[in-house]
Amino acid sequence: MTTTEATDTDRDDQATVIGTLSPSRAGDFMTCPLLYRFRVIDRIPERPAPAAVRGTLVHAVLERLFDLPAGDRTAAAARELVGPQWERLVAETPELAAMFDEAGLDRGEWLAQAGRLLDSYFTLEDPRRLEPAQRELYVETVLASGLRLRGYIDRVDVAPTGEIRVVDYKTGTAPRAEFERRALFQMKFYALVLWRLRGTVPRQLQLVYLGNGELLRYTPDEADLRATERMVEALWRAIKRAMETGEWRHRPSRICEWCDHKARCPEFGGTPPPLPDVTDPGEPADAPLSARALADDV
Ligand code: SF4
Repeated sequence: MTTTEATDTDRDDQATVIGTLSPSRAGDFMTCPLLYRFRVIDRIPERPAPAAVRGTLVHAVLERLFDLPAGDRTAAAARELVGPQWERLVAETPELAAMFDEAGLDRGEWLAQAGRLLDSYFTLEDPRRLEPAQRELYVETVLASGLRLRGYIDRVDVAPTGEIRVVDYKTGTAPRAEFERRALFQMKFYALVLWRLRGTVPRQLQLVYLGNGELLRYTPDEADLRATERMVEALWRAIKRAMETGEWRHRPSRICEWCDHKARCPEFGGTPPPLPDVTDPGEPADAPLSARALADDV
């Protein structure tokens, strides 16, 4: 169950909200401004990507696992949650059922891969010894500039001493150096929002890579989070410039392999559609399922 932690709504009266940014969409712009445009400005729907949906399924199981009494949180119990959680996802988004035929995938093997990712989780943490303070926590704050930052944190742990750990699960493999910066940016973004909400710098940021069974840990400090704030402000200025000029550069990279917009991308001989009128400089509240693969699982 998602919980919410946000600045008092009165805060919006103190500073006009000039825009909204989440780590995923910030990451899109850093990766490829044209990809950001297609998702946020044009709001072009994307097909569910099997890897992304599997990530969503594994996240759902790991969230529900902590509903069980501590002693029952075993690998077998996690696997038993796969079927019911998959059925819940299909009930919420019926088009997911067609994903296997469209992608030529074997449903049983795809579900087995989800099970293997969950097995990997148990090599990294023992959930019987953990009591998360929050799971799937929606956080939101408005910076002094009026830029609203928001996102979903997979798990927040709070030690008896009050120290905070921010945990994010990744169903991809641990990033190579070029992607590590982006993964850490996402975690620092969450840490910045929590710091602004709670007045405490999280003690640890922990990325749990289920694809290859690795943990990535980082200890942020205030200087880090101030630098992250300057970075998101600069990023927002760059996004605003692109909105004003209509220049959304395409930036080819490994991400293109999974991009749903190749047919309309100049890099692949396509032409972007005419720009719609941008009256709302925000971003969609919910990223498409495929966004998770592009944003989180590389
Ligand atoms: S195909 Fe590549 S360059 Fe084109 S929009 Fe997608 S990510 Fe950007």
